[in-house]
Amino acid sequence: QRLHNDFQFVELKREEPQKVAAATRKVEFNEIYHSFEPEQASNQAHRCLACGNPYCEWKCPVHNYIPNWLKLVSEGNIIEAAELSHQTNSLPEVCGRVCPQDRLCEGACTLQQGDFGAVTIGAVEKYITDTALSMGWKPDMSQVVPTDKKVAIIGAGPAGLACADVLARNGVSAVVYDRHPEIGGLLTFGIPEFKLEKSVITRRREILEGMGIEFRLNTEIGKDIAFDSLLEEYDSVFLGMGTYTYMKGGFPGEDLDGVHDALPFLISNVNNCLGYEQDENGFVDMRGKRVVVLGGGDTAMDCNRTSIRQGAKAVYCAYRRDEANMPGSRKEVVNSKEEGVQFLFNRQPVEVVGENGKVTGVKLVTTALGEPDANGRRRPEVVEGSEEVIPADAVLVAFGFRPSPAPWFEQFDIRLDDGGRVLAPESGDFAFQTSNPKVFAGGDMVRGSDLVVTAIDEGRKAADGILDYLEV
Ligand code: FAD
Ligand code: SF4
Repeated sequence: QRLHNDFQFVELKREEPQKVAAATRKVEFNEIYHSFEPEQASNQAHRCLACGNPYCEWKCPVHNYIPNWLKLVSEGNIIEAAELSHQTNSLPEVCGRVCPQDRLCEGACTLQQGDFGAVTIGAVEKYITDTALSMGWKPDMSQVVPTDKKVAIIGAGPAGLACADVLARNGVSAVVYDRHPEIGGLLTFGIPEFKLEKSVITRRREILEGMGIEFRLNTEIGKDIAFDSLLEEYDSVFLGMGTYTYMKGGFPGEDLDGVHDALPFLISNVNNCLGYEQDENGFVDMRGKRVVVLGGGDTAMDCNRTSIRQGAKAVYCAYRRDEANMPGSRKEVVNSKEEGVQFLFNRQPVEVVGENGKVTGVKLVTTALGEPDANGRRRPEVVEGSEEVIPADAVLVAFGFRPSPAPWFEQFDIRLDDGGRVLAPESGDFAFQTSNPKVFAGGDMVRGSDLVVTAIDEGRKAADGILDYLEV
């Protein structure tokens, strides 16, 4: 039954789409959230107060027209909602699934401030595109006037896809190169299926190809094709190559057998699930093992929950701050706990211990939170005499990523900052132009490893910069 009145937010509580029971979901690699039913979506959307100054919209990195599409959903106008949602976001069904909404749109919702529970913005955003696509909706390209301009995009992650989307809608041919066999970047080869099923990306690939975007996959620029041939062939080049240097703990024992970096572990699991060829390290299987995951961000949560699904005997997650100071999405911490992950908060690893070259445990010290650092986060300080060893058969190191600039950047005058990020300011003559005027860049390689939605934002703005540069 559709309930619509101005005090909906009081009478109707915030409801998330149903979750698959923990016992079922922890043995399968499927998304754990069901979709809203149409009435539920309409009723939940109608909880929006339509604030005069919508904080959710400001806090959303792509500034989605949230109250406007919530209104359309509450009225049942899904196709119009999909059109509107695509005006600001190139991958709304992805953001609806993986954005840390509690830190972004929903965290800023007026209802959340008033303790009524935020509008379920992410779930409605996912519902709009999933429903519109199942109704046969496609972007309307009938008014697009083709130009003779063509742009090469390196990287089919969210930044590259968003850039291609905006260019195609403005009549510019976009050709996207990626070294992987499928598009998506970390959306495919990183984020696990229980957060984002891969069919979501293959469906988006069909939409993008239908808009005229061309993908040249299994092609590494700098190895299979030289960068200067792209500079010659295209009017401009966009770099959306991500960040892929794994951060190390810098303590003894990190090179013992059984210690793995987080991302190769997650990729090997994706390859195993999808039947792609494994690299030389093969499939890393946690079945029957005691696993210790080091770190507290989204990548650590994904390692925890992947290990559980692979049949690990026990999974411990050690993080050096407390739960309130974890950097990842709150809902993924809750999901991890429900699935059986055991958290060791305020614990810092100081050594991976082993025998005969193989890991047998992790030495941890207890920490207490000290004074806030320059970013306002309280610094963990070691408690004297608190060492303990947690037994482990495998250790996953999820300390994040540092930039991985290509060795050929210098030759083409693509300059970096001191940390190795590509310099491409939003406020330059042309947004996100690098020090080589023909080359633009965005996403993790420019801002450092961050979020899907911020990579989309930069890819879209860089496309605007390219359009200005090409005078389209
Ligand atoms: P990427 O997604 O890294 O894409 C870069 C692409 O460039 C890759 O496909 C790569 O193969 C390609 N490439 C690089 N060099 C070359 C070359 N020379 N030739 C051809 N191709 C090349 N963010 C969220 O918002 N929510 C989450 O829940 C979340 N979970 C995450 C979980 C994990 C495990 C990880 C690692 C990250 C997660 N993130 C999450 C972060 C998010 O995935 C990234 O911020 C985002 O994907 C960055 O997009 P990008 O386009 O800049 O780079
Ligand atoms: Fe919220 Fe992310 Fe969607 Fe913006 S893109 S409305 S932050 S879920």
